[in-house]
Amino acid sequence: MSANNVKQPQKNLPTGVKGALVGAGASCLVLKAGSGYGWMLRPPGAVAEDDFLKKCLRCGRCAHVCPYDAVKMGKLSDGLAIGTPFIVPREMPCYLCSDLPCVKACPSGALDPELKDPLKTRMGTAVISEREECLSIKGLRCEVCYRACPVIDKAITVENYLNVETGRHAIFEPVVHKKDCTGCGICEKACVLERPAIVVQPLQPPTESWYES
Ligand code: SF4
Ligand code: SF4
Repeated sequence: MSANNVKQPQKNLPTGVKGALVGAGASCLVLKAGSGYGWMLRPPGAVAEDDFLKKCLRCGRCAHVCPYDAVKMGKLSDGLAIGTPFIVPREMPCYLCSDLPCVKACPSGALDPELKDPLKTRMGTAVISEREECLSIKGLRCEVCYRACPVIDKAITVENYLNVETGRHAIFEPVVHKKDCTGCGICEKACVLERPAIVVQPLQPPTESWYES
């Protein structure tokens, strides 16, 4: 699937559908880095975190133009630099718009204008964080994260091997390949479990500066 084939912008959805999506994500608003439920990510093209905090004007233009309302602006209660943009994939992932409107809207270079191809963005890397909970690794045919990935068969593949518990069946395990993972979080959003077994970790582990206002 190419970046152009991802689903339509949420802002084009009927109000009722959009409301339902927002409602479904509302319980995730309190997610914090390291909670085990997911991480907060910077938008596509974000430069290294220290530089980002210096360059970001806190103007909110990236959030304003995001057609999915994926980009939020940090408040005191969000636990990161106030007024800086972030994405919580479990609430609303980045759908990798082909024209990267958030990057184009950024006036300061905090989102690197050299990023032209959404599939080259690296917001983080997906990891199977709860192996014992993943339905596919348990031997059930789930693979929803694999099928949802816009870089299917590159960023996530499915590797199969014998289920030693039954000795007769195969396990089809989703495996993430860091080199091609954009960190969009579509897999995290798609995971059928209440607490996702696959989450996107930021490329740079959060440091104290991540939380400074
Ligand atoms: S690429 Fe599109 S969906 Fe992703 S953060 Fe930017 S505007 Fe939003
Ligand atoms: S975050 Fe998930 S869906 Fe997005 S590219 Fe990586 S593996 Fe694919």
